[in-house]
Amino acid sequence: QSLEIVDKFKSKLESAGYGEEVAVIKTGCFGFCGQGPIVKIHPDNIFYVQVALTDVDDIVNEHIIKGRVVERLLYKEPETQKALPKHDEMSFYKKQYRIALRNCGLINPEDINEYIAFNGYEALGKVLTEHTPEQVIDIVKASGLRGRGGGGFLTGLKWEFTRKPVADQKYVICNADEGDPGAFMDRSILEGDPHTVLEAMAIAGYAIGASEGIIYIRAEYPLAIKRLEVAIEQAQEYGFLGKNIFSTDFSFEIKIKLGAGAFVCGEETALIHSVEGKRGEPTKKPPYPSIAGFNGKPTSVNNVETFASVCPIILKGPEWFSSIGTETSKGTKVFALAGKINNVGLVEVPMGTTLREIIYDIGGGIIGGKAFKAVQTGGPSGGVITVADLDTPIDYESLKNIGSMMGSGGMIVMDEDDCMVNIAKFYLEFTQDESCGKCTPCRLGTKRMYELLDKITQGNGAMEDIDKLRTLGNSIKDSALCGLGQTAPNPVLSTLEYFYDEYIAHIKDKR
Ligand code: SF4
Repeated sequence: QSLEIVDKFKSKLESAGYGEEVAVIKTGCFGFCGQGPIVKIHPDNIFYVQVALTDVDDIVNEHIIKGRVVERLLYKEPETQKALPKHDEMSFYKKQYRIALRNCGLINPEDINEYIAFNGYEALGKVLTEHTPEQVIDIVKASGLRGRGGGGFLTGLKWEFTRKPVADQKYVICNADEGDPGAFMDRSILEGDPHTVLEAMAIAGYAIGASEGIIYIRAEYPLAIKRLEVAIEQAQEYGFLGKNIFSTDFSFEIKIKLGAGAFVCGEETALIHSVEGKRGEPTKKPPYPSIAGFNGKPTSVNNVETFASVCPIILKGPEWFSSIGTETSKGTKVFALAGKINNVGLVEVPMGTTLREIIYDIGGGIIGGKAFKAVQTGGPSGGVITVADLDTPIDYESLKNIGSMMGSGGMIVMDEDDCMVNIAKFYLEFTQDESCGKCTPCRLGTKRMYELLDKITQGNGAMEDIDKLRTLGNSIKDSALCGLGQTAPNPVLSTLEYFYDEYIAHIKDKR
């Protein structure tokens, strides 16, 4: 429907004689998914929500021609019903701090000139003309940026490890294989601001000594792929990719490699195998990809959101970035807020923001005023967080301490009506389906766990099944080869810890 709205705006403005004066720009996602389609009028900064085709006439006739705001299309705060014309007044945006998402919803992602107008490719120019590769690594290290794909490893340190080995070729790989159910952070960044990822990949290439970059992206993201293709072509045309960038000795090219949508290919060794055209199976580390990665050469694999934070760090300095967040987790994190929450969408908050602030202040609380039951962070690898931990400030360590994990940023909210045993079963069905089958604990162990959960939720479970679930879960965690298997039991183990009574209810009431 948004595309039809764009076309209607163009034809209406044309027929009203404003075709030349007013530009209609398609942007990436604003993040406020529950309120789409969104139309923002610049420079007035007026934000219209849930715009229908039939509203276009009013916006043009009233706002564009007469300069009068169309009140009925303004967002109303659920509690006060107060209409808010500017997006930064809304509770959904007020507590957000947009670094990775800074250009999403602002620029036309298919026009490199708009990216350039917002300091695009300045960071690349700065590192190539003012810094040595070692200095770039020092800047990124000093910023405290950690991998946003889930691992949380220091990005600058990863680049340093990849720079050190001597090799005739090195590679930068962008991991865009976002596969968690309910996660769409990376897709939105690539659809809304593809150039920032290309620019950061080139910076990483300069830092580690690579002349080739590869974006590994799932084929299910056609719009992101199309926008990347357009962006690569434009960056080549403008000389930001290719030979002798900014008239220096540095050359860098980027290719796109499509993945078939296997969750396990988010794991870096499996991803590298898939890029090499092999079966996407993980291998034991060491050796780490920074020593022997793609084609056996030193390779730095970084996630989309990590790359999206790099250019502002170069331009504003590492002190600026490290002043945001907590002691151990610097900067911001993007979360895909979904489930039983009023404001479904994509949010970016400083590390250290509490879950309560995200769910209630930004997310607008639970649908229908129902009681909050739990939130799952870290997707199928994470665990549930209950009301007792809602005031936990979000960072890598604190989420781990309460039995969950940051993961890539999926955040699914459950209310009082949700059965936590069914939720655990849903996640386990996903991971056992996505298991690559290479090692026995994960291949067979998750299957057996799923069978036990199925038995319990069908009303045929016995108390001993709970013990079996625990024992199996713990032994899979200890013995599986890769992160997928090692974390697959987490949703079951954490619901067993916090919602044990629901397992008992299934067994005792035979339901
Ligand atoms: Fe494959 Fe699972 Fe073993 Fe990982 S843990 S290698 S996904 S079977």
